[in-house]
Amino acid sequence: MKITKVEPIVLRVPEITEPVDGNEDDLLVRIETDEGFEGIGEIDGPPLALSPFIRTVQPGTWWRGFEDILVGENPLEIERIWEKMHRYSYLYGMGGLIRTVISGLDTALWDLAGKYYKQPVYRLLGAAGRRASGVVTPYASIFPFGPTEDDVIANCKRWVTSRGYIAAKFHNHPIGTDDKKALKFVKRARDELGEDVALMLDAAFHFETPEAISFARSIEPLNIYFLESPLHPDNLNGYAKLSQSTTVQIASGEELTMRPQFEALIDRGKVDIIQPDVIWVGGPTEWKRIARMAHSKGVLCIPHCYRSNINLAANLHSSASVPNSPYVESPISTSPLCKDLTNEKFEPGRDGRIQLSDRPGLGVTLNKKIIDKYWVDVSDFRYRDNPKRRSRATST
Ligand SMILES: [Mg+2]
Repeated sequence: MKITKVEPIVLRVPEITEPVDGNEDDLLVRIETDEGFEGIGEIDGPPLALSPFIRTVQPGTWWRGFEDILVGENPLEIERIWEKMHRYSYLYGMGGLIRTVISGLDTALWDLAGKYYKQPVYRLLGAAGRRASGVVTPYASIFPFGPTEDDVIANCKRWVTSRGYIAAKFHNHPIGTDDKKALKFVKRARDELGEDVALMLDAAFHFETPEAISFARSIEPLNIYFLESPLHPDNLNGYAKLSQSTTVQIASGEELTMRPQFEALIDRGKVDIIQPDVIWVGGPTEWKRIARMAHSKGVLCIPHCYRSNINLAANLHSSASVPNSPYVESPISTSPLCKDLTNEKFEPGRDGRIQLSDRPGLGVTLNKKIIDKYWVDVSDFRYRDNPKRRSRATST
């Protein structure tokens, strides 16, 4: 079997509604083969900036377009292809946005392999999840929607009770903006949601180290599962001081894309939880290496996720493949490019957990109505010969 085509699919919602949470556009990638097997993946980054990296013709010996790298390869040789993608793209920039392109392609390869072997991805990845086979726990990631704090808590309550989540996270406003308000808000959320819901807080890099220590200590009595990103990701010494000064678990790393960065966050920053996103760090292949590295150091791995159900499926399957991933972030977005992009939904069951199905690959199919409605043609970014240059070239 050989890869014959790598197709970027750009989607955009023209009418943007509040809150703006990053799901206003999207870049998917489809890998096709000569035997009819296909895989789908998602790339998290600006679609117009990143899709040319897939389709560009080979511009140099050591940097190539991703379609050029993949076509002709056997899609089942995933780790070999991963190394090849890394080798021929590192001069575009190590990690960062290029790593998100590799992530989407690697995800699509795992989806395709699952369809070929007729197995769900988590099983191909080893199915070493901490619960029963294929069982994962999502947490509702409540983006600050609603004009007042009352609305935010009411919305969260609605999601938790009507959709059956047993864990929820609040973002900034007021977390990470006003500590006194935040403390009041968290106390109220704890009262209204009850002791049985695991509560998490995302401070979005709001603090300097001493303030983070004092805020973390102030929330200790409220039984918070983790405090996320209180400090800038580069502030490793600050993370170490903070982690050693509070009983609250400290989580960080959603924006990191490289394994050595996570290793530094653990070894120097002493965090309790890292948050790699499968579609940022290099797909399930590299995510699993990072999670295993964390496991060997006694650190939990709870993936970040704020794109569509394809992103979510990739994270759920990966989380279900390692023993140190107790939760997966589940975005609460109102954009049609989030929950409606696939025909399948990933909502918690009665016990608050998701049992992944036996459907092969990621177990998702694209919602054709949504794709047709929001698809944008960006096929015109190829080099065009300058006619003047051409006539000069042909006249000599
Ligand atoms: Mg976050």
